[in-house]
Amino acid sequence: MSTTVSGLRAALATALPVCAATLLLTGLLSGCSSGADAGADAGKGERTRASEKAAARPPAPAPDADAYRRWGLDKPLAPPPAPPARKLTESVQAGGAPLLVRRVPTRDKVVFVTIDDGAEKDPEFVKMAEDLKLPLTMFLTDDIARAGRGYPYFDRLHALGNGVHNHTLGHPDLRTLDPDAQRRQICGQQDALAKRYGARPALFRPPYGNYNDATLAAAGGCGVKAVVLWEATMQINDMRYAQGGRLRPGDIVLAHFRGPKELKGTSMTRMTANMLRSIQKQGYTVARLEDYL
Ligand SMILES: [Zn+2]
Repeated sequence: MSTTVSGLRAALATALPVCAATLLLTGLLSGCSSGADAGADAGKGERTRASEKAAARPPAPAPDADAYRRWGLDKPLAPPPAPPARKLTESVQAGGAPLLVRRVPTRDKVVFVTIDDGAEKDPEFVKMAEDLKLPLTMFLTDDIARAGRGYPYFDRLHALGNGVHNHTLGHPDLRTLDPDAQRRQICGQQDALAKRYGARPALFRPPYGNYNDATLAAAGGCGVKAVVLWEATMQINDMRYAQGGRLRPGDIVLAHFRGPKELKGTSMTRMTANMLRSIQKQGYTVARLEDYL
């Protein structure tokens, strides 16, 4: 990554206090423990309010154990806890520098599933997402999503309540492009998704995780509130971790819309079942990224 740690800190400091910024950069920075604790206590108060709000709503339907068994999982995922009352991006001003998020600061035993590009369009996966009521966040590249069955496939996942966000028009390495070309890639896909889904996406993921200062400026100017990276990656059978060999609270898991050709014969639904099994085995459940960001 060409952007320096101090550059990242500067980008974050515009939107967040330094301790919060440090929490977001867990892969690069450490320390700030007292500030982090204070933040967590503040979060607890917000959580109480969120729980009260949640208590006023009718309880969510119990997860369907049979549906999980049909998709090869022994038991349902635990229901996620009430989300925080305040989303992280509420501190971002319109057109201002977006947050840079590798991992969501939380003590909840939750992780977030993000799926990129949009190449494979397996109808079975839509059934699986619907059956399991799995919270997903999609980052779509226009050229890739458009191919084959095209966007109507993602419309079905969106209709289940899942967010569709920006992963550029053509999947370039943005660091190789000048600022104008970066703006066209990012704003172009903001416009395309706004036209289709009615609102400009709040989240953006740069292809390959590659970005520089011009990327952050372009994203902010196009209405992006958070640039979302990751520290855990779903492979065919298990996950890879940037640190520590296991999931941590608030991990953002990167997966892709891929089919048997890219998954050595494994289908998208089997890859997803493997991912969920690993998440369960490690004592986590899946929450919705947009509830936290
Ligand atoms: Zn990608």
